[in-house]
Amino acid sequence: MSGAEQPPLFTTITSPSGRLAAFVRFREVAGHVVVTNLEGELVILTRDEFRRFVEGRIEPGEPLYERLRERNMLRAHYDVRRAAEAWRARRFFLDAGPNLHIFVVTLRCNETCVYCHASRAPMDATHTDMTPEIAEKAVDLALRTTSPYVTIEFQGGEPLVNFPVVEHVVRYARERNRRAGKVLEFTMVTNLSCMDEERLRFLLDNRVQICTSVDGPAVLHDRQRKLPGGSAHAVTAQWIERINRAYVEMGLDPSLYHVEALLTTTRETLPLWKEVVDTYVALGCRTIFLRPVDPFGFAQRTSGRVEYPRAEYMAFYRKALDYILELNARGIEIMERYAAIFLTKMLRGQDPNFLDIRSPGGQAIGVLAYNYDGGIYTCDEGRMLHEMGDDTFRIGDVRTARYRDLFRHPTVRAVVLASNLDQNPDCVCCAYQPFCGLPPSHAHKTQGTMFGRPRESTLCYVHKHIQDVLIEKLAQGDATTRAIFERWTTIRPREHFLQS
Ligand code: SF4
Repeated sequence: MSGAEQPPLFTTITSPSGRLAAFVRFREVAGHVVVTNLEGELVILTRDEFRRFVEGRIEPGEPLYERLRERNMLRAHYDVRRAAEAWRARRFFLDAGPNLHIFVVTLRCNETCVYCHASRAPMDATHTDMTPEIAEKAVDLALRTTSPYVTIEFQGGEPLVNFPVVEHVVRYARERNRRAGKVLEFTMVTNLSCMDEERLRFLLDNRVQICTSVDGPAVLHDRQRKLPGGSAHAVTAQWIERINRAYVEMGLDPSLYHVEALLTTTRETLPLWKEVVDTYVALGCRTIFLRPVDPFGFAQRTSGRVEYPRAEYMAFYRKALDYILELNARGIEIMERYAAIFLTKMLRGQDPNFLDIRSPGGQAIGVLAYNYDGGIYTCDEGRMLHEMGDDTFRIGDVRTARYRDLFRHPTVRAVVLASNLDQNPDCVCCAYQPFCGLPPSHAHKTQGTMFGRPRESTLCYVHKHIQDVLIEKLAQGDATTRAIFERWTTIRPREHFLQS
């Protein structure tokens, strides 16, 4: 909120005169006021404009009146049909079903990461390998989804460690999909250290999208991700370069097809915002997701080393985003993923279907996680909690589950209700409610309740302040920044990764 020298704004959300404003929510950001309506239309006003709006002192014909009318914010002109269509478009995912199916093909991993969210197992823990029989049952369930789209994502541990099951899943799913007829994709999240030419050939031939983890420059990456006998960063960088070269050799557009990487922001990352962004650019990544560390897995044990106050995270985010915008203005294309998710909702009125930032959330109704032992979870984080001794989000077993019964499970009902921000007492008055989302697994882990208390949630803090940063930048009206933001909201084609 703005400084104390400013007179306070109204706290009510409808016009005192009852004449002008439709139902709106608002929030003061850096001297401006962001106003949103029920269906997620957005307008940024000066304090004076906002005051006149809520006091009903804007006359028809004034530019501001027309601006508000265009945004469906005037009671006298409120277009219910348009609002319903916009609301429906934003919640298109409610007509589908789970499209992301996470296969934890092993817990074994050859790297030891200080924050490992998955609670990796040592390399001799072969009992944590998914068997082909369990994998087939998981594929059968995944292809029963009511969604026309199915993405099977290989996770771990390190999925390359149980590569025979990866190969089996790809072949089996392709075969079974001849009857299921889904738009099928495969992705793999791998540290790349167990990659070899033969495995890469299989992944390329079968159009498996490859994503890896990069924590930043080598000095940071290697301190946090230990690879016995070598530099994890050097190995990862070498394979990123090799895979990107292979895409070019296949005639694919390198701006669309290249290895992307995931960042985990720890305390040691915070002062290195520039080095981290530079590393991503140097590796050829076009996206960087400045995610804070999560409270799952080993990150709980090592929180004294990896955690930080979220105000410090936001200072990091601001500096990194400013630098990313500066690079883009110089023609170096790199997109920050948090910003892109929120901006797509704010500027396009569309939902990019990022499962952790939508309402209701993607847990169960957008994603299912299949553990190596056959356990089915509402989300990957639910599976991570299982490894920490908490089975709250377990909803079945692939050997016995029937698809329909999974969705009648009380936990599924609970996560859908809990992640619906329309019912959350803190969110109903928040201007960012149409764009936001809070995963119940995070609230459950950090606050002991799936429904959560956003005002005390670190995730709410991060979401709110990132949206503040974006609104602040939009309010500044810089044409270059606006053009970069618009570009980040375009959905990039990835036909190559769709199975024929
Ligand atoms: S989670 Fe926080 S930022 Fe998001 S809508 Fe709720 S109160 Fe607003």
